[in-house]
Order: sequence, then structure tokens, then C-alpha cells
Amino acid sequence: MAEWKKYRMYINGEWVEASSGEYFESYNPAEGEPWCLVAKGTEQDVDRAVQAAQKAFEHPRWASMTYTQRGKLLRRLGDLIAERASELAVYETLDNGKLIREMRGQLQYLPEFFYYYAGLADKIHGETLPIDKPDMLAFTSREPLGVVAAITPWNSPLYLTTLKLAPALAAGNTIVIKPSEVTSASLLELMPLIEEAGFPPGVVNVVTGFGDPVGSALTSHPLVRRVAFTGGPESARHVIRNSAENFARVTLELGGKSPNIVFDDADADNAAMGIIAGIFGAAGQSCVAGSRAFLHKKIYDQVLEKVADRASRIIIGDPMAAETEMGPLATEAQVKRMEHYVNAGRQHGARLVYGGKQPEAGGSGWYFEPTIFEHTDPKSPIAQEEIFGPVLTVIPFETEEEAIALANGTNYALAAGIWTNHLAKAHRVAKSVRAGIVWVNTYRSISPIAPIGGSHWSGYGRESGYEAIYEYTQSKVVWVNTSGEPMPDPFIMR
Ligand code: NAD
Repeated sequence: MAEWKKYRMYINGEWVEASSGEYFESYNPAEGEPWCLVAKGTEQDVDRAVQAAQKAFEHPRWASMTYTQRGKLLRRLGDLIAERASELAVYETLDNGKLIREMRGQLQYLPEFFYYYAGLADKIHGETLPIDKPDMLAFTSREPLGVVAAITPWNSPLYLTTLKLAPALAAGNTIVIKPSEVTSASLLELMPLIEEAGFPPGVVNVVTGFGDPVGSALTSHPLVRRVAFTGGPESARHVIRNSAENFARVTLELGGKSPNIVFDDADADNAAMGIIAGIFGAAGQSCVAGSRAFLHKKIYDQVLEKVADRASRIIIGDPMAAETEMGPLATEAQVKRMEHYVNAGRQHGARLVYGGKQPEAGGSGWYFEPTIFEHTDPKSPIAQEEIFGPVLTVIPFETEEEAIALANGTNYALAAGIWTNHLAKAHRVAKSVRAGIVWVNTYRSISPIAPIGGSHWSGYGRESGYEAIYEYTQSKVVWVNTSGEPMPDPFIMR
């Protein structure tokens, strides 16, 4: 135990113990064993961090910094992350079990998000309004909101943090981040780079710990003006309730039950690869996991066979090994969750095509086989609820209308994949499908230039892209009387 790395929290530019003095264990899912200790934050720590962030927000060092200069700091941070991407990726894999090659790829791409918002920083401007009164000048400016509370899940810790951190800082806010209790290490490893990039103390703070009390105290803190939450619907409900206390503006990036719709004119090999990428990439632990495949009856057998064949050849194992294609799930609870849904699938009459259990060679790690169900009742739990793991349900359809109705038949609306070579059909379906992200003949593409987000149980608001700037600023309108005349009758509106 003595040799385990011990992570303190990062508040106001300093490494601090939790006020409780306590630590909790963080596990390596590949072994099912703890590998580091993380400070167990309290309400007091949250208050300390929010107060520091508020002071930093008001301090001229940050408040009077030009937007161009803030952009330069973000660019520098991007450069530093690029230099350290491989190292940071190791901490991600140690904590969440995702493939080192996927995490390396993600980390190597992360600087692009910082460069994008670095470039935008000094292009956040208002407008002069063509106001309908002759002696009046009216213009808007976009102003930062204040202290942002960012809460992230465990599946892509630094990527999901970046989606909040980069636009929040570009717009001139300060931030307190609470990472998932499952994966705190990589964010804490990022903090020295924040310092090295030149961000003043208190601009970026990290409080580690559990949803209750840390997440709860953070989202209800009276000084917090903005909450950026990524996680599941249950926690999101608490966050919304808390925002009734402080009126913070909230965005929610929640889960999905995303459909992959394969039409009979699609390239079957390509569609099968897309389905595999959508549900077995990252072991299905992705908000945009394509967990429902709708296959046209004419190509149903052909595509299902290809998917099942590739699934059966997926190399499961050590996420640090170069040849591994599917690593473990992030927590033991996730394994239990998969088992629960496999039982639910069977009970509701679905046929297990492949997988459905922990692989025999998995040792003490939290591995689970790629799992495919067919003959799935579209109303059954495995076709309705977010499983957040490598479990695919396959359902046939005959007409375009039927495919759209099936795709839209859940509470979620995050992402969708459409596989067809028919241009007009692709556009028709893209328009009709309820999702914030639609991929045609591809899946899981991301870019700092494109927005991410959904509706209904998938949440609200957008991250990434220019739209995120609106989520971290508010407009102010300034009216100037240019007539030089005194106010006329004060008892009428002008
Ligand atoms: P979770 O909701 O259990 O936890 C997410 C975060 O919320 C954690 O940091 C947790 O500590 C915190 N939290 C828990 N209770 C809280 C409370 N009462 N108040 C404030 N914060 C609280 O989710 P998870 O299991 O870590 O992650 C899986 C979920 O995240 C899935 O539903 C997945 O779809 C979703 N997700 C969404 C996206 C997206 O961009 N849409 C991306 C990744 C993950």
C-alpha cells in the first residue's frame, strides 16, 4: 500500500489534502486491484475551491487579461498536452481500462480542441443593433458567466473535461472540476500543465471525491453560475434539482440508446464495421454507443453474420497491449450491470447470438464478452435502456418509415448511424431521426468544430464547436442616448 501513488486535490494553484484528511482507492480494471489513492473531498473543500475560483474570476490578472492573451495560454496548454499525450494516456488506461492505443489517439487529438478555442477566444464579440429609434445606439457584448462547475464521468476523463474546460476558459470564466471518483488521476496529472501554461492560481481547480457530497455541494453552491455535467440521467436529476437553489445555467450531456440503421442498398462490410465500432469500440462504454442495430430484412442475415463473426474474433485482454481490441469494463458494478441485462434479454425472449458472460481467461480483471442479441422486442429493457457496455440488440425492419419509428422509439436522442448508398434516403432519414449527431456511412467521428449533445433523456445544451461559446457566455445589451436631450415624459416607455 505504501508505494501507491497518492493524489491530493488542486485548489488555488496548490496541492491540498481533503479537509477530512481521508483518501479513497482508485482501481485498475484490468486487474480489479487498487493502484492509487485519491483525496476524499468534502463540502468544505468544495467551498474552498469555489471561493478560490470566484476570487480568480474577479482578479485583474484574469478579469483584465485580453482575450488574445487567454487564447495564447490555451494554445500553450494544447502544446504541452501534445508533448505529454502518451504519458497522460497511461493514467487514463490505468484508471478506466480503455485501450492504451485508443487513449493515446484521443490524447494526441485533444490539443486540437485547445487550439480551436484558443483561436476563438478573441472572436467572441457582440453586435451593433440596427435599433428602431433614431437617437439611440445599442450594442451587445458577450460576457463570461463566472464560476463554472464541471462534472465528468469515467469513460473519457480528459476528453470530456476538455469539452468544458477549453470553451469555459476561452470565454473568461473560472472553473472547479469534479472528476468521476472512478478516474481522477489523469485530470490531476494535467494540473502541472495548467500551471506551466501560465493560468493564474484559482482559474482551474480540482476537487476529487464522490457525487455525494462533492458533486452535490458543487452544483448547489451559491457562487456557481454554470454547471456542465456529463453522466447518467439519475445524477443529472440531482443536478437539475440543485440548480433550483443557485439558478446556475445547466448543460447536460447524458447517455444514449443510439440506433445504427442499415438499409438494403448499404455496403454490408462497411455497415458491419460501423456497427462493431459503434458498440464494441471502447467496450461499449461510450455515450454514443450504437447499441441498437436495425437491419433491413433483405440484408439482415448477411450483416448479422458479419457482425457476429467479427465480434467472435475480437481480441479481449490487457488494455496496455498493442494487439488488444477490447479491454475490461471500468468497474465491477459494470460487469454486474452487463449480467443483469443479459438475463433481462433472455427473460424477454431475445436470442443470444454471441457472448453474454465474462471471458474465461480474464483473470481478476473486469472483462465482458462482446454480446449480441437478436429477436429483440423493441420495447424490452435491453432495447430501451442504456446498458453502457458491449451489448448489442439487433432488430429487423422492412420500410424506411418503420426504421425511423423504431430508431425514435426510446427516451434517448443522442446519436444515430445511417448506412445507405442512396443519397436522398440518407438525407430524409437524417432529418427524421431524433438525435443531436447523425453519422452517414461512418460512426464515432468527432471534431472540435462539430457540436455534441442530444435532447430528452440524452440531456440538453451543446459541447464542442462554436455553439459551446454561447453556453459559457451571456449577452449584455448597452443602450446609449445619443440625442443629448433630457429624458422626455418619464411615465411612458421609450
Ligand atoms: P454518473 O452519472 O454515475 O456519474 C457522473 C458524474 O456525476 C460523476 O463524477 C459522479 O460522481 C457525479 N455525480 C453522481 N451523483 C451526483 C450528484 N448527486 N450531484 C452531482 N454530481 C453527481 O455516470 P457514470 O456512471 O460516471 O458515467 C456513465 C454515464 O455518463 C452514462 O449514462 C453515459 O452515457 C454518460 N456519458 C455521456 C456522455 C455525453 O457526452 N453525452 C459522455 C460520456 C458519458
